[in-house]
Amino acid sequence: MRILVISDIHGNLPALEAVLEDATPFDALWCLGDAVGYGPDPAAVMARLTELVPEVWLAGNHDHAAVGLLDLDAFNADARQAVLWTARQLGEDARERLCALEPSALLVDRGITLVHGSPSHPLWEYITSASSATHGFACVGTPLCFFGHTHVPAVYQEEVDGAVRLTIDAEQPMSPDNARWLVNPGSVGQPRDGDPRASYAVFDPEAAVLTFHRVAYDIAAVQSRMLAAHLPSRLATRLDSGM
Ligand code: ZN
Repeated sequence: MRILVISDIHGNLPALEAVLEDATPFDALWCLGDAVGYGPDPAAVMARLTELVPEVWLAGNHDHAAVGLLDLDAFNADARQAVLWTARQLGEDARERLCALEPSALLVDRGITLVHGSPSHPLWEYITSASSATHGFACVGTPLCFFGHTHVPAVYQEEVDGAVRLTIDAEQPMSPDNARWLVNPGSVGQPRDGDPRASYAVFDPEAAVLTFHRVAYDIAAVQSRMLAAHLPSRLATRLDSGM
């Protein structure tokens, strides 16, 4: 079984399409939030995701901000400007869908938690280090937890003795028998690990293996549409560096 795990699309339709083409065929789709915000295609990304019927579709902080469920004071100036622009692009259907999304999900029978940010603060908190992952493990009740929000692919492994270490192998065996796992597939629409290509992961629960993937898309075309829409130029230029 192939489960496509994506996060932080951020209104970047060409990046999403490149991922879908590269990952097909897959049996299920899990989206860990921030479908919109930053990029030029929020309405089109919402329509495309809706058509794909994700098995799991979480809310991110930008998603909730775009529909007025989160205070914009917590966003920096560029992000705030992009959220306000995004809000104006969304139709009633997309708004209703975003309002209904939750920032976490629990698949009890499969022993899997999914959050946008972290297990303790699913909408906002960042897991960026072994110490923040240790706190995350303390707040999660399943052997496996997927998260997004940082835009950096990562696997944190908690050994039976409680030690937590960061790994990022392209192919990651994840047996739930001798460890617990916190996994981030990276960002589709705005990677921040220095690799500008769209990032995603494929999870095979039967084999207990996760693979990480990167795929190129037409960044220049997305940038020119962002500038034409008068989105902050820094949000466009950062797509080149993947930072
Ligand atoms: Zn994000």
